[in-house]
Amino acid sequence: KKNLIVFGTRPEAIKMAPLVKEFLKHEHHFETKVCITAQHREMLDQVLEFFEITPDYDLDLMKPDQNLYSLTAEIITNLKPVLEGFKPDYVYVHGDTTTTMAASIAAFYSGAKVCHIEAGLRTFNKWSPFPEEINRSITGRISDFHFSPTETSRKNLQKENVNDKDIIVTGNTVIDALHFSTAKVQSENFVDQEIEKLKPLIKEGKRLVLVTGHRRENHGQGFINICSALKQIAIENSGTQIIYPVHLNPNVQKPVYELLGDIDNVKLISPLSYPAFVWLMNQSYIIITDSGGVQEEAPSLGKPVLVMRDTTERPEAVDAGTVLLVGIDIKKIVLETERLLNDDDAYAQMGKLHNPYGNGLACEKIVNFISNL
Ligand code: UDP
Repeated sequence: KKNLIVFGTRPEAIKMAPLVKEFLKHEHHFETKVCITAQHREMLDQVLEFFEITPDYDLDLMKPDQNLYSLTAEIITNLKPVLEGFKPDYVYVHGDTTTTMAASIAAFYSGAKVCHIEAGLRTFNKWSPFPEEINRSITGRISDFHFSPTETSRKNLQKENVNDKDIIVTGNTVIDALHFSTAKVQSENFVDQEIEKLKPLIKEGKRLVLVTGHRRENHGQGFINICSALKQIAIENSGTQIIYPVHLNPNVQKPVYELLGDIDNVKLISPLSYPAFVWLMNQSYIIITDSGGVQEEAPSLGKPVLVMRDTTERPEAVDAGTVLLVGIDIKKIVLETERLLNDDDAYAQMGKLHNPYGNGLACEKIVNFISNL
């Protein structure tokens, strides 16, 4: 059987890399090829290098004036020759990006079976997150097999009348990636220059607040509020060190560098490679983010997460008490961050190790399922 695994952004690459590796262990059963759309070029390449994956097809679609219309059209058009040339039986897409949605449409046109990894996440609000909620819903409608990370996501799909036998609960492949990364970083001859450069930024006796943010719905006023809140936290809490690897999107870079550029205890840095970011998550006291993947990784590291959104398609960690939604309200972000910084009991409660996202065997389950078809 022939597999084509398609992805385009950093988070998809992190979560698909362990699946690529798992399929490559079964080369006698499957011919597996990787196609990247490179919707996010630089941050994607860092991940491929760490996981030692060389794509078979690189559509190289990142453009400076990229927009959702042209990107969607380009992905579908450029996948046609790949699909017609390789003729995969199964096409694997991940999550909720433009690549996910457009590649699943192209795969459907080609007649391949569409396999959706991280299937069934929903906010049930078509505008939030934009355009992700609609991307994953469209892909869900097209997919033949739905690999859901949790029972909650299985139930979401059942409500949309997806046949139960086509939904497989696997855990999230991000936990597989986290295990791979931890093992590689701890291996004897692994030296990471980025981690070495980060070490001097961790100030003895200071609590580290790690920040990430990129979501389209927060562009504009959202990031202005987020930066104002971070500025207030930094000024009011001199015993705190904020480190913020800033996403490369210009809509993020501009407000962040303008508003937080010269504050002593705020360090703005370039996006980190995956192992360096995992290392930094481990060093941190609190994580403030609007990222999806970080909401899944942090609970398994015992780190409390404040999410700068009003809603989440990942309610499991919120229910478990390790993730709190704070929206983009300046007062709320400051209040909840300072509560965690100053109230040890509240901190201990939220930092409790509770990982609802699986045991690192998601990819094995996916490959077993496909092998038995
Ligand atoms: N991440 C990374 N370097 C960074 C920031 C994040 O490798 O500087 C990783 C993080 O560990 C997680 C993923 O990127 O696995 C999250 O990506 P992002 O927040 O861009 O997207 P989302 O998860 O919201 O789709």
